[in-house]
Amino acid sequence: MIKITLPDNSVKEFEAGVTPLDVAKSISEGLARNTISAVVNDKQVETTTPITTDSTVQLLTWNDDLGKKAFWHSSAHLLAQAILEFYPDAKLTIGPAIESGFYYDVDFGDESLSEKDFEKIEKKVLENAKKGSTFSLYPVSKEEALKVYADNPYKVELISNLNDGEITFVTHDDFTDLCRGGHIPNTSIVKAVKILNAAGAYWRGNEKNPQLTRVYGVSFPKQKELTEYLERLEEAKRRDHRKLGKELGIFAFSEKVGAGLPLWLPKGTALRRKLENFLSAAQKKGGYEFVMSPHIGSKELYVTSGHWDKYGADSFQPIKTPNEGEEFMLKPMNCPHHCEIYKTSQWSYRDLPKRYAEFGTVYRYEQSGELHGLTRVRGFTQDDAHLFCTPDQLLGEFEAVIDLVLYVFKSLGFEDFLTQVSLRDPDNREKYIGSDENWEKAENAIITAAKNKGLKTVVEYGEAAFYGPKLDFMVKDALGRKWQLGTIQVDYNLPERFDLHYIGNDNEKHRPVMIHRAPFGSMERFIAILLENTAGDFPLWLSPDQFIILPISEKYVDYAKKVSEFLENHDISGQIDDRNEKTGKKIRDAELNKIPFMLVVGENEEKDGTISVRRRGEGDLGVMNLEDFISYFKKESAI
Ligand SMILES: [Zn+2]
Ligand SMILES: [Zn+2]
Repeated sequence: MIKITLPDNSVKEFEAGVTPLDVAKSISEGLARNTISAVVNDKQVETTTPITTDSTVQLLTWNDDLGKKAFWHSSAHLLAQAILEFYPDAKLTIGPAIESGFYYDVDFGDESLSEKDFEKIEKKVLENAKKGSTFSLYPVSKEEALKVYADNPYKVELISNLNDGEITFVTHDDFTDLCRGGHIPNTSIVKAVKILNAAGAYWRGNEKNPQLTRVYGVSFPKQKELTEYLERLEEAKRRDHRKLGKELGIFAFSEKVGAGLPLWLPKGTALRRKLENFLSAAQKKGGYEFVMSPHIGSKELYVTSGHWDKYGADSFQPIKTPNEGEEFMLKPMNCPHHCEIYKTSQWSYRDLPKRYAEFGTVYRYEQSGELHGLTRVRGFTQDDAHLFCTPDQLLGEFEAVIDLVLYVFKSLGFEDFLTQVSLRDPDNREKYIGSDENWEKAENAIITAAKNKGLKTVVEYGEAAFYGPKLDFMVKDALGRKWQLGTIQVDYNLPERFDLHYIGNDNEKHRPVMIHRAPFGSMERFIAILLENTAGDFPLWLSPDQFIILPISEKYVDYAKKVSEFLENHDISGQIDDRNEKTGKKIRDAELNKIPFMLVVGENEEKDGTISVRRRGEGDLGVMNLEDFISYFKKESAI
């Protein structure tokens, strides 16, 4: 008999050779029906793989991420099978599951695949899936495997890199593929499939290699789920920040200025300022001090910080002065500058923590092909700060930073988020710098702080920075997509490299600990996510234009100006639409531009010193005098 430990830590005994499916059956028939994959001792296997020793077993359904992975991985085999039926000379390469769906990279030779071919392939996939074939995984010798794929150089390359004895094939129906395993029990559960896209992709991502066609697909156990997925995809397109950013006049790019260098338009700048003011106020309350540093720094600074060694070759190359032979780097991060600011004074433990905040613009080289709207740029502004504290202060400071990040997320409507504690790889400690004692202190501080703050956390080993552990915040947006936003990192490395110290109460010199943190991550990325999450309907306090005044004719433009001035003096920002257009058209345009308040003024309003208020999405709120509108607005826009 062997012992099977389940995720709830319960232990059951079975005969050796029991399969995950048998384990599911022993719990309930319903679970057995829904089990589509399993993880045995941390390895994803088939539901029919025999278990021969004491093991931990996790049964997976469609609702588990790894369950979906098995489903999509298996669907990639179905896709490859269907492709070969129409294109028998195509050469298959690799076909993994991805975050949503799967792809298969195919060399179509002289033929090509276009959108009009998708439907027949989808039909073929479903027709084959319906046959209800099982996936059978079996070992093949290296020699045999190479023989089977003799006319496919891609598979030959893959097989050549595998060890003899570790190579397996999988067969379902009449189709066989090179594969490591991890399939669903039966093809018949694939009930809906969609080919989303076919795009060029180089073999192994290297542009020196042949170009293949990457066929993207997605599949589901129910047609309804596919329909919903496609609707979400449409919605995501509608919310694409590149599209909204243009429509709403937030930002632009210019080839002349250079790829990956965003230009902030007046409305985008207003939005960004509001975010900066909001965070500055919160930071001021949190005891931060504001500093500023230049956009370039001497190369020596980054040699000291270690950035030159680690990233220098892949970054913007140094700028040289004409005569004196000096070398400067575009600033890739603000930390070294802040270390030098810390060093301008001698600090005692009583002065700490020092918290230096800066909206610091940094420049990092990205290949032009990798650039994407505001989420992947070459110049961006971090909402950065560095905290220098004693080791004893670390926990308290870390908790305060978590509070700040949570306050920021809540104020901006990101309610659904997850945090990841990134720790050292326990088996590979030499990769990291700093003493075990410091690492343990820092890791405990992060774990304790996250726990004290009641955060939902996952722990990832091996994901720490080389200089210290960190806490990353992942938010889910309105469409359920995950985005990595803010990060908090503990660092023992830079204080060492910059020889920072403070005088302890023992009158001796000690090293401070450094915390790097950025609740937004960067202004660019954050605004991109904010645009996609809100579809441009920003929280009222953040709207670049909070009102628009609509004079019903030219005669009332002067009164509109008076109203505007009055509101601006009360920190409510907006515009006047003095175009010679009908009020109905002006209202429609204002709605399209997502302006929260439309204030109509005409003869009566001017006479009584009032405004007729319309709110986007709510309609007419009636006539108000200005004081009443201001108090109503302040109440509605409170954070
Ligand atoms: Zn497979
Ligand atoms: Zn930093």
